[in-house]
Amino acid sequence: MHILLIEDDPFIARAVTAALESEAHVVSYAASGREGLTEIAVRLPDAVLLDLGLPGMDGIDVLKTIRSKPEPISSLPVIVVTARESLDARLEGLDAGADDYILKPFHMSELIARLRAVMRRKGPLANEVLRHGKLSLNTVTHLCTKGSESVTLSKREYALLVALMTRPGAILSKRMIEEKLYAPGEEPEGNAIEYLIHALRNKIGRETIENIRGLGWRMRKEED
Ligand code: CA
Repeated sequence: MHILLIEDDPFIARAVTAALESEAHVVSYAASGREGLTEIAVRLPDAVLLDLGLPGMDGIDVLKTIRSKPEPISSLPVIVVTARESLDARLEGLDAGADDYILKPFHMSELIARLRAVMRRKGPLANEVLRHGKLSLNTVTHLCTKGSESVTLSKREYALLVALMTRPGAILSKRMIEEKLYAPGEEPEGNAIEYLIHALRNKIGRETIENIRGLGWRMRKEED
């Protein structure tokens, strides 16, 4: 998943980015509220982690701005990150639309668990286990199985398969896949996506992923 972190403390930002990347998420980073709102407008992330104490535009105002935008921005999952001492004063603001909040200092495992819970409530990952024919993919343990065989996936193969299996009928274009799998400034080489699709097909079955010429790829419709 693509997660936007809006946080002005570079030390926290680095730690959170590393923890989320180790969970196969793609993280983009904004050091101010305005930068964060621009990032949301340009590349709609799947979820936002929002620090409240930001320079310039306050985190609560960022949250209110997100909620005042049209869909799908207004319903973006947002987890607020705040220091305990400033929580009471801000509870009212949180009612303005945070999906959850987490107190600083926090353990990365707690942050990841909260994020998972929020995503589960809001979708599109309605289930922890995504299924397609004989293929199953557990988004908590990252285990992939095909029938009774287990399939070992690289971090990017895993992220690609989650993107494909989350919306089984939808066609993902090359650009959509790049945006889900690569952080800004980390642009993939020319045929990287095609190579990745090829590698994934070799592992889960060539017929599983269908190429729609000129448009992109999707999971092949299951035969009844
Ligand atoms: Ca801060």
